[in-house]
Formats: sequence, structure tokens, C-alpha cells
Amino acid sequence: MLNATLNATEMRRHNRSLVLRHIRERGCSRAEIARRTGLTRAAISVLVDELLQEGILLEGAAEAKGAVGRRATRLCLNPEAFYILGVSITRGVSTLGLTDFRGTLLRQTEGSSPGASPKEALAQIDEAIREFLKAPPPGRLLGIGVIAPGPLDTRRGLLLNPPNLGSWHNVPLGEHFRTAFHVPVLLENNATALALAEKSCGLGHRYPRFLAVVVDTGIGGGFVTPEGLFKGSFGFGTEIGHTSIAVDGPLCTCGNRGCAELYASIPNILAYARGICPDLATWPALVDAAAAGRADAESVIDREVTYLSCMVSNAIQLLDVSTILFFGDVCYRFDVLAPKLEARLNGRGMGHVIRHVRVYPSALGAQATFAAANLVLEAYIQAELEIVPD
Ligand SMILES: [Zn+2]
Repeated sequence: MLNATLNATEMRRHNRSLVLRHIRERGCSRAEIARRTGLTRAAISVLVDELLQEGILLEGAAEAKGAVGRRATRLCLNPEAFYILGVSITRGVSTLGLTDFRGTLLRQTEGSSPGASPKEALAQIDEAIREFLKAPPPGRLLGIGVIAPGPLDTRRGLLLNPPNLGSWHNVPLGEHFRTAFHVPVLLENNATALALAEKSCGLGHRYPRFLAVVVDTGIGGGFVTPEGLFKGSFGFGTEIGHTSIAVDGPLCTCGNRGCAELYASIPNILAYARGICPDLATWPALVDAAAAGRADAESVIDREVTYLSCMVSNAIQLLDVSTILFFGDVCYRFDVLAPKLEARLNGRGMGHVIRHVRVYPSALGAQATFAAANLVLEAYIQAELEIVPD
């Protein structure tokens, strides 16, 4: 009997998540949810009525449907049900954003100054959060999503020892924000969070399975499948930037040799470019010059393609994935890099005869604080968030 009760509770939770997910992703009517999920109309009505009563959903105006004039009302998440804070900790300035319950970014501000110690930065971020909370949007605070460069211990909310992040070592970010603001706090690798945001609101609708590759001051990754984000055994996810592309290469701070990040991150490819075209000091300048036909700039772009294709090919062999989405600074005029990268990726590796690899830039752009807040929204939808009572 106990088992049967547990199973019914579990099932209800699962169905509620399913309904919320369809409504978040597409904003749809009861009939559409029934068609897409296979749940009965009756079961959906009970769940939807409950969600409407709780103020989680809104029911839109009736829309004419079909020639016979049948009408269906569209359901959507109530943006005022909750609001969410997103904190992005980076190698430069950390930023703070506030979204509504649909994930719309309402406010954004710099949360800490560059070079601040963890203690100073966290104090500055806390202060910025308190400023936001002085004039909060409708609803109540659902939680705080925090993203930072890996490696992280996401289960314990601990930032471990990211390379090039100064004295940010073993910082208990989860505990810090939970103690200060008494709401659930979720910590995630920035690349993984961007991949999840793309799955929820970007190209993920078109490509249910993709490898996300973030190339900016470092290189991160995320592997998204129709079942969700690949987390791995220890929560590290997909640290593609720390896969080796040179066995005798330099020692990386992660302990490995010849990590892809040491060659292909934007600062490292710019360092390489200094020996070839010293007048082109930024990635956009290099891409523009290559597009204008400058051979030296083009040779640097080709070098980057060599590094990235080597790194991505290794991942393709492991994951059997054919869609690669790129994020970060490397997306500047991505059409310059993309054809070269695709040509290289499709000319090598087992399976290239049948598997055609495509590369695309993220459709969302670099909205890190949105990606951070989205972690909380997604956890709510998945019924994985512990709601703090009023
Ligand atoms: Zn490494």
C-alpha cells in the first residue's frame, strides 16, 4: 500500500513536470498538451486547474481554432508567480540579474569589481542583491542560481579551484547565499548552465541532442540529450577544454598536459597571433581581417580551426553527436569560422561517412545571468527545488 501511494505521488510529480515543461517551452492549450504528452484530458485538467489555482499558470484569451470555430485557451507560466536571482562569477566582473518566472531578464547590474577577493566580491554581490530586494518585482524569491567556471562540486555548492580565477579556491558559494538569503541556491558550471538555457529557450527546440562548447577566456562544455543534461558521476559534466590535444604539451593547472584550452581559448589564440599579425590584438579584429582577405589573419583562424576540430572530434567519437553549438567570444561573425570547422570535422573520424556534423552559434547570445536564473526555474519545473515556505 505504501509503495502504491509513493508511486502515485511520484507519478503526479512527473506529470506535473511534464505539463509545466510543455507550457514553458511552447505556451500551449490543454488539448495540445494531451496530444504531446499522451496524458488523458481529464488528468491534464486536474493538474492545470491546480496550477491555475496556485497562481503558477495563467490562462490566456481564447483563440479561434480551425474552420469550425472551436476555441482553445492558451496556458503560460505566470511571470509574477516568483522571481529569481542569477549570479555569474567570471574571471572579470561578476554580474547579477533578476528574472521573472518566465525567465525574462528584468534587471541586471555589476555585482562585483574585477580582481576582488572572494570575500570582497561576495560582500559586493550581497549588497547588490539587497539593493534589488528593496524594490522587488511581484511574487516572491524562488531561489538564486550561481554560475562560475569549473571545476565545481555542484552537489555541495562548492567552487573548487578554477584555473585563472585568482584566490577563488574552495569557496562554499551555495552555503554563503543560502545563509544570507534563506532560499534554495543552485551552483553550476557556466558552460553547463548556458547549454541548459539553450536547451530550454534556444536552439534546443530544434536540436534535442547537442554538444555545447564555450570558447572565451577558457573553454567549457555541456552535453545535452533529450533526457536532459549529462552530469557525469561526480557532477563535473563535460570539461571539454581540459581534454588533451598534445601529449607533450605544456602542463595545465588541471594537472593534465596539452589541454585544448591552453591553445584555443581566446587569450591563447591571441597570444599565438601576436607572433604573426601583432597589429590585430582582438578576436573580432582577427576575424574581420580574415574575412577581408588578409592571409596572415586567415592563417590564425585556420590554426584555431585546427585546435577546435581536434578537441571536438575527440568528443564526437565519444558521444556520437552531430550538432555542436558554440557560445562565447568565438561566436563573433561565426560564419567566418563555421565552414572551415565543419569541413575539418566532416573530413575525419570514424562515422564521418554517415554522420554529418554541423556547427552553429548559440541563439541566445551571452546572457550569463539569465542562464544562472534559468537553473532555478528548470529545477522548479523538474520538481527538484525545495520550496521554502513563507
Ligand atoms: Zn587542463
